[in-house]
Amino acid sequence: MARQFLTLLGATGTIGCNTLEVVALHPDRYHLFALTAHRNIEKLAQQCQRFAPRFAVVEHAADAERLHRLLTAGGAPPETEILHGPEALSRVASAPEVSIVMAAIVGAAGLAPTLAAAQAGKRILLANKEALVMSGALLMDAVRTSGAILLPVDSEHNAVFQSLPHHHAQGLKAVGVSRITLTASGGPFLHRALSDLMRVTPDEACKHPNWVMGRKISVDSATMMNKGLELIEACWLFGARPDQVDIVIHPESIVHSMVAYVDGSVIAQLGCPDMRTPIAHALAFPERISSGVAALDLATIGALHFQALDPQRFPAVSLAYRAIRTGGTAPAILNAANEVAVAAFLERQMRFDQIPGLIAKVLDTLSPESGDTLATVLDADARSRAIAAALIQQQAFS
Ligand code: NAD
Ligand code: MG
Repeated sequence: MARQFLTLLGATGTIGCNTLEVVALHPDRYHLFALTAHRNIEKLAQQCQRFAPRFAVVEHAADAERLHRLLTAGGAPPETEILHGPEALSRVASAPEVSIVMAAIVGAAGLAPTLAAAQAGKRILLANKEALVMSGALLMDAVRTSGAILLPVDSEHNAVFQSLPHHHAQGLKAVGVSRITLTASGGPFLHRALSDLMRVTPDEACKHPNWVMGRKISVDSATMMNKGLELIEACWLFGARPDQVDIVIHPESIVHSMVAYVDGSVIAQLGCPDMRTPIAHALAFPERISSGVAALDLATIGALHFQALDPQRFPAVSLAYRAIRTGGTAPAILNAANEVAVAAFLERQMRFDQIPGLIAKVLDTLSPESGDTLATVLDADARSRAIAAALIQQQAFS
């Protein structure tokens, strides 16, 4: 098959590095068009040396100069052209040569280039769930209008996608689906005494039992806002109502999610907890390629456990149900308040157990509007951030 050009947004992150590992197994199929990164310029330089993308994109001019110096340090002129700034991100996500865009920037910063890829009709591998949570209506609309293909990389949604029939775009009811169940590991604090949650540190929150991930999504997994964002993500990706999506705790992270049908059948996707599987699936779909992931050995694992979610331990999930039921810009408000709260917790400006209360307060303060233009979404995002930051400043958490 002809080699496909890939733009990798967020190349230096956990998903970015896993994507490059899968790509490295298939040099005949994939060629890097662009790699992008925010702060980790050394790692980006190493990736450029190894994969020789046509473009590398960073945010600031000073980082672009630093990358240039690193790439020319060996004396050879770099094969890679270096760009900087947000416009450049959208440019490499929508360039005509590109067929696949991996959206793996963390947070709202990924929205503009992901939207640009959708408008340009690309095959989008979506890891950046925050982009869809913020602007579900806009992104799905752009995908439909341009004929782009949106493939979920988030392991749960990739599992749901694999468990649905191909014609599921006709609607869940039309294809006999009764429920979607997202599994959740429960994160590092599943068994921690509730009274201890006020003392947990950023490093403890980032120590996930099953997955190695960036710090923001690790904290989201510990509060389970990650599952809340995934609930919203599932509603948009699969045209589900919030009451059709439920969540079950599954500490081993082997069953990645499941789909129940009206006849009582339940179809699930299983695998080792390794993001290279959903990445390889989305890269090659509808074909299958090797990912480098070890085979699943259920006899060694022995037992799989499931338990109901305790809403008192994980109040963030109820906030996400509330936001998606409210609709409009409420999910964007939720997402932005969460991003600010997580950053403040990581910088030790607030406690772990204060995160949900802060988000609830921002949701109570801001009235949601219709989320059908980018301007209203970005405005809701900015206002939510400002209110959350002010509340943190005043230490007014609940
Ligand atoms: P990470 O923190 O490891 O990497 C984030 C990447 O985004 C880095 O390359 C960074 O340079 C880039 N980035 C950060 N801020 C940016 C900005 N302002 N502008 C441009 N680029 C910026 O995060 P990750 O764990 O790889 O997660 C990436 C996305 O994938 C997140 O949305 C996360 O929710 C989602 N996701 C991750 C996993 C996982 O296992 N890590 C699983 C499912 C979904
Ligand atoms: Mg997930």
